[in-house]
Amino acid sequence: MKLEGKVAVITGAGSGFGRQCSQLFSSEGANIAVVDIDSERAAGTVELVEQQGGKAIAITADVSVEQQVNSAVAAAVEHFGKLDIMFANAGVVSRGGVPSVAGGEEVEFQDLTDADWQHVLGVNLSGVVYAAKAAVPYLRDNGGGTILATSSAASLVAYHNIAMYSATKAGVNGLVRGLSLDLGKYGIRVNAICPTHGMSPNFLMPPGSPVVGQSYEQVAGPWDPSISPIPLKLNRPPSLLDNAKVALFLASDDSQYLSGLVLPSTDGGTLARVGMWFAE
Ligand code: ADP
Repeated sequence: MKLEGKVAVITGAGSGFGRQCSQLFSSEGANIAVVDIDSERAAGTVELVEQQGGKAIAITADVSVEQQVNSAVAAAVEHFGKLDIMFANAGVVSRGGVPSVAGGEEVEFQDLTDADWQHVLGVNLSGVVYAAKAAVPYLRDNGGGTILATSSAASLVAYHNIAMYSATKAGVNGLVRGLSLDLGKYGIRVNAICPTHGMSPNFLMPPGSPVVGQSYEQVAGPWDPSISPIPLKLNRPPSLLDNAKVALFLASDDSQYLSGLVLPSTDGGTLARVGMWFAE
């Protein structure tokens, strides 16, 4: 067990990647505080963790509101007695970004409002700042620990229609690098994971596919590596679990000497290529 007896707070854990990581971390022995703005989703993740014999609590909080993040982290420590892993994962795609994820709406950059910008900035970047701030005293008092943030491949290379999202995720990378210097003295490691594929199958499919919560196969049928844009040819599509396993590595003592790292997961060589969407 890679996380035996550890306590992890995971934000945005009510669905998708955060839920998958909650289940994987729990199966490796961690107790999970499932933080999400949506209490039903959070409760759903707790149920799944409990079904597999793990321990979890649901905490409702909006990560873009500092006081709510402070209260959430305090509640997790109150319940489980300590904090080892702060996983700032909650994120939102800017409106009009990925149509099938963001509600099918296509909006051009100049038509996005300041409220749109403040929302994506507040959740994706302020949410990580607040999570790290809230966690440091507990991690320090615990003799060290790990802060992990969900960044994105979109922080490293450009994707159409999500410039605001990309900017916030690039901010997360800068934060992680800076904090790795500042918090090293407390034995606190700070890293970011950049999921590239497998978060949502639509990144490998025609725009507009209604894919949220569905596997690649459910939406697109059998996987054909020969037409995949990923240079690494495997006989299955990349998945949430592939990404979660990299998060597990960064959260566990297997990466005990890693800090300040911005690590792509599931890129399969995609990011090594100039013009990532073009066939070679
Ligand atoms: P992904 O799988 O790409 O992380 P999802 O949309 O499935 O994307 O998951 C994001 C989670 O983050 C959702 O459960 C959502 O409710 C949660 N979330 C969104 N905004 C906030 C917020 N402001 N505070 C806390 N959780 C949030």
